[in-house]
Amino acid sequence: MLNRRTFIKGSAMTMVVLSTPHIALGDAPKVPTIYTGGPILTMNAKNEMVEALAVEGGKILAAGRLVDVKAAAGEKAKIVDLQGKTLLPGFIDGHSHFVKGGQEALTTVPLGSPPIGKITSIADMQEALRARAAVTPEGQRIDGSRYNDMELKERRHPTREELDAVSTKHPIVIKHISGHVGVANSLAFEMAGVTAQTKPKEGVLRVKDGKLTGVMEGRAQNELNVIPVKKPDIAKCMAYDSNEYAANGVTTANNGGSPTVDDYLIAGSNNDELKIRVVIWPAGMNKELIASYGDKRSGALLDAKGKVILGAAKLFADGSPQGYTALFSKPYYKQLTGKPADYRGFSYFPSPEVRFGRVKELHDAGWQIATHTNGDQAIQDMIDAYGAAMKANKREDSRHILNHCQFNRPDQVPVIAELGLIPSYFVTHTFFWGDTHRHYVAGPEMAAHISPCAAALKEGIQFALHNDTPVTPISPLMDVFSAVTRLTSTGFVLGEDQRISVMDALRGVTINAARMYFLEDKIGSLEPGKLADMVILEKNPLDVAPETIKDIKVVETIVEGETVYKA
Ligand SMILES: [Zn+2]
Repeated sequence: MLNRRTFIKGSAMTMVVLSTPHIALGDAPKVPTIYTGGPILTMNAKNEMVEALAVEGGKILAAGRLVDVKAAAGEKAKIVDLQGKTLLPGFIDGHSHFVKGGQEALTTVPLGSPPIGKITSIADMQEALRARAAVTPEGQRIDGSRYNDMELKERRHPTREELDAVSTKHPIVIKHISGHVGVANSLAFEMAGVTAQTKPKEGVLRVKDGKLTGVMEGRAQNELNVIPVKKPDIAKCMAYDSNEYAANGVTTANNGGSPTVDDYLIAGSNNDELKIRVVIWPAGMNKELIASYGDKRSGALLDAKGKVILGAAKLFADGSPQGYTALFSKPYYKQLTGKPADYRGFSYFPSPEVRFGRVKELHDAGWQIATHTNGDQAIQDMIDAYGAAMKANKREDSRHILNHCQFNRPDQVPVIAELGLIPSYFVTHTFFWGDTHRHYVAGPEMAAHISPCAAALKEGIQFALHNDTPVTPISPLMDVFSAVTRLTSTGFVLGEDQRISVMDALRGVTINAARMYFLEDKIGSLEPGKLADMVILEKNPLDVAPETIKDIKVVETIVEGETVYKA
């Protein structure tokens, strides 16, 4: 491995030999390009850094010493001087909901609290919704997104009456930042025909003194789907997210839990509005949707350009800890008012039979499975279901995923390693909800072990990291910051012993995520033969103060040798 200090000194010397041969417009992809003059992190198996890297025809041609790379690329190669900036493999999003961020930004009223938004009280929320109501025709639905009860002065969800105070002429439906809780006003319930006597198909409608409080838990929110939503132009949402992700260095995104065949992504790829790659996780309970993929499995390309890629079948084992819908083995640390003392969340599977049965069906059909798991019991439920299916049918290399895998207990980590399961940790929980988990959801001991990256590394687990956008803004550098510092938003270090090195954290947003998607032969590291998906950062994450990693500027994002974002 090249010593970083020696290399940086060496790179200063190479700058004198830089040349810029004339290149006719349009020829760019055919003439090799050599990048040099700054740290180049390959993220290969040895975490090597190199002096130069050559790209030709969208692929990496050579990586190593400048003299060798020049010899491989030839005399005519164009040279890009990094001027001290850092080149890395493009970031790979370990899980998010590509396009939902665009949908949310273009249609809903943002109700997030700091550091995501500005709302700090129910009055703030009412004001934001009132402003939207003032410009919305009567009878038309108003949706709000990302409110966080735990960050409000009142530390509770708003009530039906408080939303009625905004408007009785518009149906209002707001969603908690976790996505697993929502609140509606009286008109919304009336339009959907939902009363205090309604038994929702799934989830819980909270009732107090025989009246709806307005709060809907889990999929009870679906009862309001009958109220028409003014659908945004999906192509516009896709273009919005494509730009947003590229601006944060992401070259491969995830649409994790898609209920439809995503033709708009293929159309976007065809007309070049989709600038980055997207891995689709189709909804695994939808048998028709799953069957529509025929014999294609994880890693299969769904479009001509290789931008739309099939991934795992997505299942849900529980909800979210901060929404008090995650499934734990023990009762919540501090119960919400109105909940029994032994409340520990609930499973999203209607029964263990369905859980074991559907996992077995998908596993036997050769599917990779990704299951949303947050509470320790939900994680255990899936270790059990995956384990049973894998024992009955010893399929090689199934790489089943524990998505979020938040409250991953110490005793579960070795079992995950033994089964070859891949956690994709939502590690920024330490920052956004670390204090909440510590004081309310799970208590100090369990909170200190959320997203246990160090314990996983010790067992040789190659985990991915993610932001679950639009739950939190897309930012792989924020993942690295959280995995390295484990700082909460109030500056507390949550689980000091679970902090990991910058290099190990970077693997979670590059090569490990590529492996999770069965794409490690194509992307995730800068090695000859792989696609030239790359990101250039203003500063080297290995060299800055760890607390500032999240603030490093993305200078340029490159997909298959072509620039898709430039600051
Ligand atoms: Zn998600």
